[in-house]
Amino acid sequence: MKSLGFEDFRKLLLKKRAMLLKSDENIDKDLKRDIEGRHGDDVDIAESSYEQEMAYLFKSRGKDELRLIDEAIKRIDQGEYGTCAECEGKIAKKRLIVQPYSILCIHCQEEMEKLQAKENLA
Ligand SMILES: [Zn+2]
Repeated sequence: MKSLGFEDFRKLLLKKRAMLLKSDENIDKDLKRDIEGRHGDDVDIAESSYEQEMAYLFKSRGKDELRLIDEAIKRIDQGEYGTCAECEGKIAKKRLIVQPYSILCIHCQEEMEKLQAKENLA
């Protein structure tokens, strides 16, 4: 099997990026329909605002992902892709295949998540 190079990952990232942008559009359409279709009793309104909240949540997560993808593409351009942004260690290719926009090695990612979890508790 030919090993994956930067260009393969760039293609993967661009594809994922296009998919995210597309789902973003769909969410916008859903939200618009939801707002336009708003009438009826309080229960309906409560339910639809819950759905909207979830859609917004999904949307902001999608934005985060887009930001990460852009960052990863930048790193490909700079020839730094596959190198951890934190400790400059190598990021396992297996990890990049599952999550092509990883810019941290598994170790630094875990440290980051621990920190974030702490911040969320504070
Ligand atoms: Zn690292």
